Amino acid sequence: MAILRIRQFGDPALRARANEVDRVTEVHQTLVTDMFETMRDAPGVGLAGNQVGVLERLFVWQVEEEHGVVINPVISKRSRKTEEEEEGCLSLPGIAYPVERAVKVRVEGTGLDGEALRIDAEGLQARVFQHEIDHLDGVLFFDRLPEDLKREALRTLRDQALGIVAPPPVPPEEVL
Ligand code: ZN
Repeated sequence: MAILRIRQFGDPALRARANEVDRVTEVHQTLVTDMFETMRDAPGVGLAGNQVGVLERLFVWQVEEEHGVVINPVISKRSRKTEEEEEGCLSLPGIAYPVERAVKVRVEGTGLDGEALRIDAEGLQARVFQHEIDHLDGVLFFDRLPEDLKREALRTLRDQALGIVAPPPVPPEEVL
């Protein structure tokens, strides 16, 4: 087991589209074990391949007592109803904003055993799934903000990169 390095804003892996996994192998077993360890150490409630520099379509998640991994995840259904909740991201420390997401999603994909799986998620779990699948498409949560907030988020990230001390953000309850 190993704690992997979580890629931070500016790393090109965060802006790339991850590739489909053709076949689940032993390498994936090791990778997923390490991703769980890395997510729990952070701590976070979700972690996508891109965030550890692996451009393969898979993510791990942990919401309360439940956890899992989805390989080649696809949102096959989403509720029309949306809600806004604050999100943070392990790859974007220091910023947190309310993001509008579908309240419910159905995610289909493959498990670590290579078998098809389907999860009907709502609330935080649905939010985590949408956030992680965005990562696999190279999308970051601030991309989904209104233009003024997106600019503010980018300024904060720039100031942090320059070592200009930004006002301490209110840490989000959950980071993904
Ligand atoms: Zn994230």
